[in-house]
Amino acid sequence: MKINILTIFPTMFKGPLTESLINKALKKNILKINLIDIRSFSKDKHKKVDDRPFGGGSGMVMKPEPLYDAIKSAGVKKKNRFYKNPYAKPYVIYMSPQGKTLNNNVIEDIIKFKYLVLICGHYEGIDERIINYIDEEISIGDYVLTGGEIPAMVLIDSIARMLPGVIKEESSVRNDSFYNNLLDYPNYTRPAVFKGYKVPEVLLSGNHKKISEWRQREAYIRTKERRPDLLKNKKQN
Ligand code: SAM
Repeated sequence: MKINILTIFPTMFKGPLTESLINKALKKNILKINLIDIRSFSKDKHKKVDDRPFGGGSGMVMKPEPLYDAIKSAGVKKKNRFYKNPYAKPYVIYMSPQGKTLNNNVIEDIIKFKYLVLICGHYEGIDERIINYIDEEISIGDYVLTGGEIPAMVLIDSIARMLPGVIKEESSVRNDSFYNNLLDYPNYTRPAVFKGYKVPEVLLSGNHKKISEWRQREAYIRTKERRPDLLKNKKQN
């Protein structure tokens, strides 16, 4: 998958892209990330990318022209749905608190695309006319951050671990919370007794059938207690 990130703070991505699984995905070429500095498209001598809102009021708004040019530079020609084979064409996502809330189902839809363009907003957000060049708005939750960079990182991280070849054991992704609308079962590692707290006996039994049944049961109990809403959407095995 190829991702172009449109941002006014490209250096914010340094840490997250150079560590851990994302870095591994980049090295293996499973993921390609290109940072596009929106400011470099500003024609203003001070490289301004924001302006006062029409109608007055507080805050600044991201100007449409540099953003439009940055979107075009990422190879976007028209809205994704107008292509015959949309999954092979750029899919433009604006990280926005007003978008669809990110969850596992949304991620599974997004990983079908081979090429994403992520727009990170700032200030009061972007000039509304840029919405005409955006395929989808995605929110990472009902709260407001100062900019779209952290939401973009959240989206990229959640996508990267779903791409085949990034996580060695694919079963580990399948057992994770939200996959098939269940929370993960409880995990334990050595030592078998820690400060007097014991690991459940069944996990030390070596009986894989019993261990698997215990885990399924625990995942179900946990989900019922903490997130009963998920069970409503659960597919029957
Ligand atoms: N005035 C906007 C509103 O109330 O909807 C909030 C703008 S916010 C301060 C600046 C930028 O941060 C947004 O344009 C967006 O890119 C990003 N952002 C903030 N919260 C977000 C969230 N929950 N999910 C995704 N992006 C978010």
